[in-house]
Amino acid sequence: MFRNTWSVHPRLDEIKPDVILMPVLAYSKLMGRKPSHVSAKPLLLIDKDLPATILVPSSPTARKTLKMFKVAGQLAQDLSPQSIAVIVDSLSASETAGALWGVGQAIYRYRDLGSETTGPAVTVVSSDGDLTKLKNLTVVAQHQSLARDLVNLPSNLKAPQDLADYMQQDSADRIQWHTIDQRELQELGAGGILGVGQGSHRAPCMLVGRYEGQPGKPFIGLVGKGITFDSGGISLKPGEGMGRMKGDMGGAAAVNGAIRAIAEMGWPVNVLAVTPLAENLPGGGAYRPGDVLTMMDKTTVEVISTDAEGRLVLGDGITWAVTQGVSAVVDIATLTGANVVALGGIRSGLLSTDASLKRMVMDATDSMAEPAWELPHDEDYLELIKTPMADLKNSGGRPAGTVTAGLFVGHFAKTTPWAHLDIAGMAFEGENGVGAGATGFGVASLVEICRRFSERSQ
Ligand SMILES: [Zn+2]
Repeated sequence: MFRNTWSVHPRLDEIKPDVILMPVLAYSKLMGRKPSHVSAKPLLLIDKDLPATILVPSSPTARKTLKMFKVAGQLAQDLSPQSIAVIVDSLSASETAGALWGVGQAIYRYRDLGSETTGPAVTVVSSDGDLTKLKNLTVVAQHQSLARDLVNLPSNLKAPQDLADYMQQDSADRIQWHTIDQRELQELGAGGILGVGQGSHRAPCMLVGRYEGQPGKPFIGLVGKGITFDSGGISLKPGEGMGRMKGDMGGAAAVNGAIRAIAEMGWPVNVLAVTPLAENLPGGGAYRPGDVLTMMDKTTVEVISTDAEGRLVLGDGITWAVTQGVSAVVDIATLTGANVVALGGIRSGLLSTDASLKRMVMDATDSMAEPAWELPHDEDYLELIKTPMADLKNSGGRPAGTVTAGLFVGHFAKTTPWAHLDIAGMAFEGENGVGAGATGFGVASLVEICRRFSERSQ
C-alpha cells in the first residue's frame, strides 16, 4: 500500500517544503522577475531566495501539463524530499487537475500490498484558488494511488474474491458493501460473468458498493470491468506482454477509487458501484468459441472470441445496476485494443446514447485532464454483432472494434441513460512506467461525473 499525505495552503511563505514545483508564470508573479533560464522541459532552478525549485513550462493542453508535472515530480523525487509544494497559481482548473495527477504519479511507488510504502507529503499552494475544490482534488489524488495499488498487484495475489476484499479495506463507513458470490450469481442467472470465470479455479464474484449521500434522490450506477487476469481464454493472447493483463481490472479499480473518494468527502450524491470480477483462463472447464451464453437479462450471446470477455461481465454488471433502479449508468473498461489503435492512448473512447449524459461525461473528463472522444453509435454498427445463433455475438471482428464492443455493452442498459468509457491504453503505462505502471486513470472523471450528476438531480 502506498501512502502519502496531501494538503492545501494559500501561502508558500508559511510552509517549508524541501522542493517546490512551480509553473514559470507563477514564478514571474511571485518573484516579480522572469527566471534567468527557461527550457522546454521542467528544470531545477538554483535561486538563493528559494528552496530547490523546479520550474515547469506551460503546456498547450491539460494532458501535457500532467506529463510536465510528472517529469517535474520525478526530478523532485531524485532529491529524496520529505515534502513537496506544488504551486498551481496561473493554471486553469483542468491544468491544476493534470498537475496534481502528474505529481501523484511521479511520487507513487509500489512494493507489495502487505507492506506500506510512504511518499513525500505534498502541499498544494494556491494564493487565489478555491481551497475546498483543491482539497477535493487531493482526496481524488489519494484514491488514484489506491487504484494504482490494485492494478499493479500481481494476479496471483488478486483472485476475484481477494480483490473484492481489498476493495473494501479501510473504506469510509458510509459505503454498504456486498459481494455477490458465485452461488448468488448462479441464482441471478449471470451467464456472462459465470461463463468468463469458469475456466479459472478461482471463482468469479461481483462486488457492489452503495453510497447514499442524498437520501430519496436518484442513484448513478458506475460499472467497472474487473478481469483480474486476461489470458484471452481459449482464444489465447500472444505471450509477449501478457503480464500486463493483470491490469485488465483498471475499470473496476477506477470505480472503486471513485466511490471511496466520494464517501470520504461525504458528498451529497447517491452512487452504486458495481464491479464484476472474474479471471479469464483457458482450462478444462473454460468457455469456448461457439458457445452460447444466456446473460442475466436473458439475452443470448454467441461467443466468437473468449478474449472478448470484458463486454460479457459488463453486460451482467449493467443489468444488475439497471434492475436496482439507477437513473443513469456509466461503465468504464480497459475494453478493446482497437481503442488504442483509434485514439493512441491519448484520449479514452466515449459512447453514449443519451445526449445530456454524454455532454456531462465529456465536460467532466475534460475538466479532470482525462479527455475522452466520442465515437459513433449508429444502429448500423449493431449489424456487425448480429448472428443467427443468438441475439448477439460477442465480437464483430476487427472493423470498428471499439464501437461494436461499446454497443454490445450498451444493449444491457436498455432505456436507462448510458455512457461508456473505453480506457484501454490509459490505465497502465507498461512495466517500465513510473511507479510500476498503473496510472489510476478514470478515478477523477468518475468522481466529477457523480458531482455533476448530483447537481443535476437537485
Ligand atoms: Zn480479453
